[in-house]
Amino acid sequence: TRQPAPRVRFAPSPTGFLHLGGLRTALYNYLFAKQRGGAFILRLEDTDRARLLPGAASERERERECVCVPPDESSRRGGDCGPYVQSERLPLYSQTAAALLQTGHAYYCFCSNQRLDLLKREAQRSGHVPRYDNRCRRLQPEQVQQRLAQGVPAVVRFKLASGAEPFQDMVFGWTRHEVAAVEGDPIILKADGFPTYHLASVVDDHHMRVSHVLRGSEWLISTAKHLQLFRALGWTPPAYAHLPLLLNRDGSKLSKRQGDIFIQRFREQGVLPETLLDLVTHAGSGFDNNRIGRRLEELVCEFNISKITTHSALLDLDKLDEF
Ligand code: GLU
Repeated sequence: TRQPAPRVRFAPSPTGFLHLGGLRTALYNYLFAKQRGGAFILRLEDTDRARLLPGAASERERERECVCVPPDESSRRGGDCGPYVQSERLPLYSQTAAALLQTGHAYYCFCSNQRLDLLKREAQRSGHVPRYDNRCRRLQPEQVQQRLAQGVPAVVRFKLASGAEPFQDMVFGWTRHEVAAVEGDPIILKADGFPTYHLASVVDDHHMRVSHVLRGSEWLISTAKHLQLFRALGWTPPAYAHLPLLLNRDGSKLSKRQGDIFIQRFREQGVLPETLLDLVTHAGSGFDNNRIGRRLEELVCEFNISKITTHSALLDLDKLDEF
């Protein structure tokens, strides 16, 4: 049987401008979709209001940065639904949180920051990793109603199930993570009504009909949480492919502070989009050979997701002159 065409998304948080790591994630999503006649959608994950970077938050800006890998369904290309901007979809997230409260998969938490800080300090003092102790799980319905009626600020937390459900990652293979053993119940809706990343990401991946999630491996352990959310909501999760980290040649973390990895900076210096594609594909796996100078259409033909290895990809900025 023929596989349906995939739908993938690139979901940057506008807490900074697009850098080479982000471009690689966007590119691999684009290549995966285009190779199979699918769609590549842009989604702005701008729900962490405290960390928004002015300027980076506009979808125009993000579309402009995606110059190498143009998203589908964007207003610029005559589409009518994308790019998706999470801050414009708040009712969808709060309705979903309400549904989870209704089915007993989530609960209101009234713990004050003071109490949470105390928990954190106690854990640190005894050498433990701080975690929420799930205290508000045990509140009686009347206690909840009373506090809500009094206007006590509340967040909504998701009840993590114990145990670990294994899943098959397209890059890392069979993976399991017993999330409830190491973390407290995560907040899904904040007191300001904004969702956290976990809820917004699951809700959008469902409603955007995302079939494959290709994202950085720093999210691999979050996937256990996401799968629990999908299950609680009765939704079918997408397939996952986590991309190994992109690091400097010496193995250190790509530094955003030096500003030397931002796409905009390269563009200002006159670096061609094709060269940027060379740079990120050369660093990463996913191809049979390391040939440079491939056009986007050639990359589409030659990309092979099964060739992505689990070890980190090293970025060699000195190569820029050679390309
Ligand atoms: N907003 C997240 C980021 O910027 C996206 C993670 C994901 O793709 O689910 O890394």
